[in-house]
Amino acid sequence: MPIILILEDNEERIADFSRAVEKLGNGFEARIFRDVSGFAQEWEACAATVGLISLDHDLNPIPGAKRDPGTGLDAAVMLGDCLPACPVLVHSTNTDRVYSMLNELRFSGWIVDRVAPLSGPWIETVWLPRVRQMLAQYPNTWRAELSADHASRVERMQLSLDGLSLGDCLGEMFASRPVAAFNRLKQNDLVAGPWFCTDDTEMAISLVAVLKAHGHVNQDALAKRFARRWERAPDRGYGSMTRMQLREQVAGKPWRDTAAGAFGGKGSLGNGGAMRVPPLGGYFADDPERAAREAEASAVVTHTHPEGVAGTIATAVAAAMAFQLRGLDDVESHQCYYEGVLRLTPESEVRRKIQLAREIPAGVTSAVAAQMLGNGSQVSAADTVPFCVWVSAHYRNNFVDALAQAISVGGDCDTNAAIVGGIVALSAGREQIPTEWLAQREPLRF
Ligand SMILES: [Mg+2]
Repeated sequence: MPIILILEDNEERIADFSRAVEKLGNGFEARIFRDVSGFAQEWEACAATVGLISLDHDLNPIPGAKRDPGTGLDAAVMLGDCLPACPVLVHSTNTDRVYSMLNELRFSGWIVDRVAPLSGPWIETVWLPRVRQMLAQYPNTWRAELSADHASRVERMQLSLDGLSLGDCLGEMFASRPVAAFNRLKQNDLVAGPWFCTDDTEMAISLVAVLKAHGHVNQDALAKRFARRWERAPDRGYGSMTRMQLREQVAGKPWRDTAAGAFGGKGSLGNGGAMRVPPLGGYFADDPERAAREAEASAVVTHTHPEGVAGTIATAVAAAMAFQLRGLDDVESHQCYYEGVLRLTPESEVRRKIQLAREIPAGVTSAVAAQMLGNGSQVSAADTVPFCVWVSAHYRNNFVDALAQAISVGGDCDTNAAIVGGIVALSAGREQIPTEWLAQREPLRF
């Protein structure tokens, strides 16, 4: 059933909007929310069937509710992070904020207009005719393919994101003293929170949000989120080339051009594609081939060099294999993990070093493995991913050990631990992720 999605807190207006939408006919149904969080949840659940959105700005707290209801501008920012899907009407008397809302939406590509509330039956006489016009002119363009088990896929993604973000903030915390990490993590001797997440988590959140909304890697939606999150929080330790690309995108350059133009047209071979991709492996854990294809699509938004792409594919497939082999700890499952990764990783330096990782005999320490495979100090995919695949293989069933080992070798500590944390969370399971650590990590804002 087509939906008119409305943000409104006034009882009288809510009743008038409901009556007006009934008059629209064609099966339209009003879904009216008094706070931004309810509105955002509904939007996420049914974006493809929303015909039009109508937004108020000022919202009074819902009686009895502890949560801040937010404002219409919060809703506009949330929508602005998404690809435009349907027309938006703003119906608030708060003129200054109305302009902010219109601008937020306009600059992110949405069709938007304003209806000024008047006294009298303005909802029926002014709002409703404008709704009719906009519905006729601008059909919904949202594209999503959500499978029947979408919710459990999203849950796996969230598990991987929790592992990834903990690795990210703990790796960042110990980047200047990695040798201390092993005992401090093992003894749970850690500084008080909030723990700060870096670009790895920021970009992973964007990828998770796109998969949650679309069920596949919509590259335009992904590039838009990357750029908007960077604009809101630029000081998260992004690499200089990624910063340049995102700045150009914000200025209007298409992502295909910024990604292909990186490093004089060679494309980036850095570890940025890999660092954000483990949750995608969780989402497509049942289908490693699909995980590999979607991983490639997610990489090339910023990293087009074959090594950057291969590192992203290897990491996503490792995450999928980790989930498939969860609970198993024998030699056979160990080999199966490597075979899965090697089967789908394209010929590259990354793949050659993962082959080497598979041959490292049992009993070799992380420090020695890092000497053989790299520890990310060159911030390239080939210098980062093979070691992360090795740590994840050896410590697949122990989340804390895996992070402690990944961080203790130094190099690109936050990224190594983000990749390992995102993979191993899927095999070790939710029970192994310390809840007190999650409580110290800064809240993840989508
Ligand atoms: Mg980082």
